Amino acid sequence: MMEQFLENLVEECRGYIGEGNVATYIPELAKMDPNQLGICVISTTGKVYRAGEYMNPFTIQSVVKTIILLQALIDNGVDFVKERIGVEATGKPFDAINMRAGSLESQHINPMVNMGAIAMCSLIKGKTEKEKFERLLNLTRKLACNDKIEVNQDVYLSEKRTGHKNRALAYLLKSYGLIEGDVDEVLDTYFKACSISVNCEDLACIGYCFCSHGKLPRKEERVFESEYATYVNAILTTCGMYDGSGEFAINVGIPAKSGVGGGIMGVVPTRMGIGIFSPELDEKGNSLAGIRVLEKLSKEMYLSIF
Ligand code: GLU
Repeated sequence: MMEQFLENLVEECRGYIGEGNVATYIPELAKMDPNQLGICVISTTGKVYRAGEYMNPFTIQSVVKTIILLQALIDNGVDFVKERIGVEATGKPFDAINMRAGSLESQHINPMVNMGAIAMCSLIKGKTEKEKFERLLNLTRKLACNDKIEVNQDVYLSEKRTGHKNRALAYLLKSYGLIEGDVDEVLDTYFKACSISVNCEDLACIGYCFCSHGKLPRKEERVFESEYATYVNAILTTCGMYDGSGEFAINVGIPAKSGVGGGIMGVVPTRMGIGIFSPELDEKGNSLAGIRVLEKLSKEMYLSIF
């Protein structure tokens, strides 16, 4: 019944395809087929529900900021991370240069904007940059219950070639002492992290781990501390959907994170993890049809936490 409900929802929301645009500022993303819409839901009863193109791959993009934040928390604890990367919403686009004249402070950034995410990449523990990225990739695989997850090399190289604004943000961070280590190496970790290839089921599983405060589906093993899920879920609620987070909180009302690859990871605390994919974005950078699916799902199933 749930699967049929999701099928109907996907078919209905395919009608919104054509109203948005696929991201083009990363040349490789412009090649995505816009006619894709998929969803996977993993509920805490242990059931997995799928509909549409739930198996199609896409790059994780900004959804990885949740995993970078988690890795930074696991490696450094709450106090250290909070001191360096602020937690207040900026109300500005994800790639904004947000600072007052003459100073850049931790309160000008948060973990869900590019500056915060790039700074957090330098907080991941590891002897070399390669080791740091491997640890992040392994955490992603663990949370997604999928050890086949890899980087999409074409997207990675495309981002690296064209990511001049991210480079500018990173050097600005460095000049204010908010990046440890070599800037280009830290950026490389960030570009690779954004280019990790996933599908809806992977995102649903990662969302599940946050909804269950650190447990994998159908397992008792705890992958991370419950207090880290509280931290991440709270940040997702206020900053997860770019500068559309307030509107999303009213209309959907769950912690969620979107990425310019068209993915959205939803977390319904204690109830379910959700993965959605549709490449066309609205003007804020969120998957347009994906948000419509989430709105309808939330209303039908009373998912809003508010
Ligand atoms: N790699 C992208 C960037 O940094 C991620 C942006 C996003 O998904 O919001 O520009």
